[in-house]
Amino acid sequence: MAERTFSIIKPDAVAKHGIGAVLARIEAGGLKVVAGRVTQLSRAQAEAFYAVHKERPFYSDLCDFMTSGPVFVSVLEGENAIKRYREVLGATNPAEAAAGTVRADFGTDVEKNAAHGSDGPDTAREEISFFFPGADLT
Ligand code: ADP
Ligand code: MG
Repeated sequence: MAERTFSIIKPDAVAKHGIGAVLARIEAGGLKVVAGRVTQLSRAQAEAFYAVHKERPFYSDLCDFMTSGPVFVSVLEGENAIKRYREVLGATNPAEAAAGTVRADFGTDVEKNAAHGSDGPDTAREEISFFFPGADLT
């Protein structure tokens, strides 16, 4: 079933001029980019986006990192896009991510791990409408 998911190429990967390389991995993984733009998250946006983690010890540092520079937000579409993109990304910790994944190749550490992908259909819908409100996408 064709499905949509949400991606953020995070500030570390953008700073390494990695937007094109990560998009190439996305496309090689059979996913289509159906919307995208460069933006910089406000503190309020980062805090809301990661609200599920607000009790975690890394939350404040994570929000600092996510607001530290431009990001590339996009909507991806394809067969089982949510699961497929998580596979393209690899494990959260780049040190544990399989060879050839985005996080293994572009991530720095468990926080600065190059890119985000939605973890399920509900979060995908919420994250897409958070960054692409009103777009004829969801
Ligand atoms: P994922 O992005 O793989 O879904 P999580 O939802 O668990 O992972 O975490 C969200 C983000 O928080 C991660 O992508 C990473 O940037 C950061 N993060 C996760 N765990 C840690 C940690 N132990 N220390 C620092 N940052 C973390
Ligand atoms: Mg997650």
